[in-house]
Amino acid sequence: MDLLFKDITVIPMEGERVLRGACVGVDAGKICHVGGNDPKLSADRVIDGSDKLLLPGLYNCHTHTPMSLMRGYASDLKLQDWLFNYISPVEGRFAEGMAYTGALISVAEMLSNGVVSFSDMYFMLEGIAAAADEAGVKANLCNGMTAFSPEFDYFKDRSYMETAYILNNYHHRADGRIKADAGIHAEFTSFGRAWRQVVELAEEHGLIMHIHLSETLLEHENCKAKYGTTPAQTLNGYGVFDVRAIAAHCVWLEDSDIDIFREKSVTAVHNPVSNLKLSSGAAPIERLIKAGVNVALGTDGAASNNSLDPLADLKLASILQKCRAGDPTALPAYEALKLVTVNGAAAQGREKESGRIALGLDADLVMLDLHSPRQTAAIDPAASAVYSCTGRDVELTMCQGRILYEKGEYKTIDIEKAMFEAKRAVKKLGIL
Ligand SMILES: [Zn+2]
Repeated sequence: MDLLFKDITVIPMEGERVLRGACVGVDAGKICHVGGNDPKLSADRVIDGSDKLLLPGLYNCHTHTPMSLMRGYASDLKLQDWLFNYISPVEGRFAEGMAYTGALISVAEMLSNGVVSFSDMYFMLEGIAAAADEAGVKANLCNGMTAFSPEFDYFKDRSYMETAYILNNYHHRADGRIKADAGIHAEFTSFGRAWRQVVELAEEHGLIMHIHLSETLLEHENCKAKYGTTPAQTLNGYGVFDVRAIAAHCVWLEDSDIDIFREKSVTAVHNPVSNLKLSSGAAPIERLIKAGVNVALGTDGAASNNSLDPLADLKLASILQKCRAGDPTALPAYEALKLVTVNGAAAQGREKESGRIALGLDADLVMLDLHSPRQTAAIDPAASAVYSCTGRDVELTMCQGRILYEKGEYKTIDIEKAMFEAKRAVKKLGIL
């Protein structure tokens, strides 16, 4: 085999909750051994797993990677003001190549934080796909359609053209790392005819639908005033959830919306840091999970987080639900880990290839280093992963058996060049 993690603590996310003193083998991009030590096991490279914790590689199911170029810009504003008066005008100045530059920096940050796959909604998808492809990660990419009139024709719009580009150039590639999703930006930025057209595209190609939903109370209540139904009910009426779908935020979901999510198997993507920073509220994640809804985690973009660190956000996600419920047993550590592993893989339609440490699955793995003062006496590995660890504890990130990041070193990204280009792009955008 190519690589063997030896004598390591593992949270495989299936079967036993924790394996101690275990061995995990990787060969030809796949997990080929999970179990105890076997003297017959040998590999080209053996990693000593003492004081290390091995998890399935992490999923970030809602982000906007090029927004790393606006990290730290326009902080501490209301969402509508932030989006329409600050972020959108800068996005309008994005030049050729800037999406690639911003995406590459985000991918580098995510790799250092243990992420193996992300769901992105943005524009200039060609650049984002190139960055993800070069870096070696997995990505589901969509251009979230926005329509400015009820007559808007999706099939003549750039959002369709860019989706078609990903479909034609990446979606069916042999290693399956980069996929096209169908995208609707949000209920309040589009109309019924265009929703039906995006659904048509998703049905034709079996694509996952990615949408922002009920992020703010204003958006939620405006929809009810306009249509007499909640955003989830309104979109459901147009067939948006008849295809596999992921909905970001879901802060203001009502009980009837949760019923729709359960009946239509919609994934709710929780973005706790972005939602709190923009004062949108705290999504009812515990209720969704108890209702049987698949819940994943997203960081949102670097302009509203300002980090792309799922482990750090996971601690907040868990604590937030304890606070909401007035119950410290809400969203316990092991259940929280599902958001960034198995549930994330399911959200992206990758549940048969990834999200767990099991024989035959892609070797998508993250190894955390617990040999530090902040991790000493890490008695419960799940508690350590969720409540103590952040991205700074990530030692190694591997996707499909390929090490992409190890001990601060990037194997596929010229990081100094990437940071230089990013700073240059920010200057060109006129915000630095
Ligand atoms: Zn978003």
